[in-house]
Amino acid sequence: MHDHSTHSPHHPNGALKIALFLNGGFAIIEFIGGILTNSTAILSDAIHDLGDAAAIGTAIYFEKISRKQRDKKYTYGYKRYSPLAALINTLILLVGSTVVLFQAVPRLLDPQPLNSSGMILLAILGLIFNGIAVVRLKKETSSVSKKAVLLHLLEDVLGWLAVLLGSIIIKLTGWTIVDPIMSLGITMFILFNVFKNLRSIFKIFMQSAPDGIDENEILRKIKKDPQVVGVHDVHLWTMDGSYHVATIHVVVRYGLSNDEQVSLKQNICKLMDDFDIDHVTIEVEFDTENCQKCD
Ligand SMILES: [Zn+2]
Ligand SMILES: [Zn+2]
Ligand SMILES: [Zn+2]
Repeated sequence: MHDHSTHSPHHPNGALKIALFLNGGFAIIEFIGGILTNSTAILSDAIHDLGDAAAIGTAIYFEKISRKQRDKKYTYGYKRYSPLAALINTLILLVGSTVVLFQAVPRLLDPQPLNSSGMILLAILGLIFNGIAVVRLKKETSSVSKKAVLLHLLEDVLGWLAVLLGSIIIKLTGWTIVDPIMSLGITMFILFNVFKNLRSIFKIFMQSAPDGIDENEILRKIKKDPQVVGVHDVHLWTMDGSYHVATIHVVVRYGLSNDEQVSLKQNICKLMDDFDIDHVTIEVEFDTENCQKCD
């Protein structure tokens, strides 16, 4: 209960900054290329890469703040800056996707002329760029987050493969409607992830109980203790999706000794720790008192 230190590991910011520079730079190339080739599919991929760059950029900026220790004003620390950063990223993707949709949807009915050779060139550039990123990552030591990043990079590669294939089809057949169709596909994929992320961000800000933590299971284990007469007013929430907080009222028999109370609290803290709950507040009550604090 008295371990209030943060456990988040320190990220190597140097590697992130290089990734930001590469992703941001490439997104700009894509935007210019998308406008020059008149391709909404390329623009959709540009939005996607802009989102990646924003994610890395906010990770560098906000994660540093979110690791700051708590103080008198922010008594829980600055961990909520991490979901705040995620919220900003989803908003960037949402606005960008909307703009592209306004470009792409009318073209379904009225396809515009495209520079398909330029599109092929950009798609090959995209494949090379993302391929280098995959190879760079593969060289690094194994970790859980690396797997997620690798999966994301593979998505990027698949996106560019689709654009390459579509551009070749357009060049061979002249079916320029393939471009807005690809654009819609990529944008739908972006929006699918946006809403998935918004859902988990919303749950964090609404103080929902963290995913994967079963309150009933916790209560069942606490009530197993013969000293415990009752449990009520349980609150479970998460600061950022990984740092979880709980408060709980535990009713014990009147006259339970100090030592017994101390060991009871220690047991509950240990149990909460097994459930990955990082910060626990326990109020011990006697069965003779009337708890006024609960509603
Ligand atoms: Zn404490
Ligand atoms: Zn309460
Ligand atoms: Zn109570």
